[in-house]
Amino acid sequence: MKLYNTLTRQKEEFQPLKGKTVSMYSCGPTVYNYAHIGNMRTYIFMDILRRALKRNGYTLKGVMNITDVGHLLSDGDEGEDKLNKAAREQKKSPAEIAAFYTEAFMADIEKLNIGKPELIAKATDHIGEMLEFVVKLCEKGYGYETADGIYFDISRFPGYGKLSGINLEEQRAGARVEVNPQKRNPADFALWKKAAPEHIMRWDSPWGPSYPGWHIECSAMSRKYLGPLFDIHTGGVDHIPIHHENEIAQSEALEGKKTVNFWVHGEFMMVDNGKMSKSLGNVYTISDLEGMGYSALDFRYFCLNAHYRKKLNFTFEGLTGAKTALCNLRTALQAHKAAPAAAPAPDLSGYQKDFAEAVGDDLNIPYALGVLWTMVKEGKKHPAVYAAASEMDTVFGLSLDRLPPAEEKKSRSAVIPAEILRLAEQRRQARLNKDYKASDSLRAEIEAAGYAVIDKPGNEYEIQPKAEK
Ligand SMILES: [Zn+2]
Repeated sequence: MKLYNTLTRQKEEFQPLKGKTVSMYSCGPTVYNYAHIGNMRTYIFMDILRRALKRNGYTLKGVMNITDVGHLLSDGDEGEDKLNKAAREQKKSPAEIAAFYTEAFMADIEKLNIGKPELIAKATDHIGEMLEFVVKLCEKGYGYETADGIYFDISRFPGYGKLSGINLEEQRAGARVEVNPQKRNPADFALWKKAAPEHIMRWDSPWGPSYPGWHIECSAMSRKYLGPLFDIHTGGVDHIPIHHENEIAQSEALEGKKTVNFWVHGEFMMVDNGKMSKSLGNVYTISDLEGMGYSALDFRYFCLNAHYRKKLNFTFEGLTGAKTALCNLRTALQAHKAAPAAAPAPDLSGYQKDFAEAVGDDLNIPYALGVLWTMVKEGKKHPAVYAAASEMDTVFGLSLDRLPPAEEKKSRSAVIPAEILRLAEQRRQARLNKDYKASDSLRAEIEAAGYAVIDKPGNEYEIQPKAEK
């Protein structure tokens, strides 16, 4: 099996360090809010990697962290702790915030058929290991104290920047005014932060009441559970330039050698060709999509259409296409399942070989999906096709054996586009404000797009696609 290693910038043949067991660490969510679909794309990629390894006969020893302290508003060392801010705003304790959003995250990954890593590690359960790590780094001369915390001196670590390939000299030349004049180098990062009075989460340390930086948790927890050298580290590409550079610096400084064999990263998801952002109102969660009539697995299918190292542009048109395709695939497979088994079984070995090669070639899942489609469409209906597809589904994770729900058999127009839902909501507001002129013009706009809005008692309404001629 070949995997693209971000560190060496090439596809390499994957070999585990120890026999058939793969040790793998995955950066998990910061649990201060609901995870959005862009986050979920990264975990779907992690899951596909885990499934592909298992299908190749490996046993997984996977660890994923839950960040419930230390992740500041910027990925660097500025701003308030995300958990602290959410706790303050929602008048809850950070532990309550973390528990609530961890549960929501777990519910989402279950719906998406994302297998849970073997071990889920909470940052706040590992304060002792992190503190010990930082103390050792200071003893070795990599850490130094400033007024607000303990920082890592990157000038002591010549390999800094090797994962992202950033040029520190260039970065320094173009750097904005340094916010912390006590730092020795602009890219020095916090290992440990002294707790300001308003910081709720705090622990005793040689430097007084304080809390860990974000990056140290992944170094400390991967070391604890997977040892000083492990096989694979995954994350999103957004982790590369800061979080993972810092992890490498901390871990290699402590061990004096390489600590991860393969760094594997999933690409970004865009929305309507742009960035997802709250101000644009285009940050969607799995629940949002479900509210619009899509299933979590429709979204998973949508993600599998793009290679994990390619940017993927999310549109509702694309998601609707994925929903239709998944429904058609399930329908076709039911026909294969129901066909008489008596006829001689078709020879499927060519498809199976192509499928295995695609999966083994740096997880070329879009190609593997194409192989599945060709197998399902070509030749006679036969239960052997259903069986072969189910086996391939151990990698896709699309629950292809599920019956397409009756409602999904309806035409693709059964899904009401988000834009129409928005217009209908605006119209409801207009009616509440007794602005009938606006409400009439919004109705005209909705009808022009091919939908009918039916008013119901209590200012409720229903939207239906107009009957097709
Ligand atoms: Zn991490």
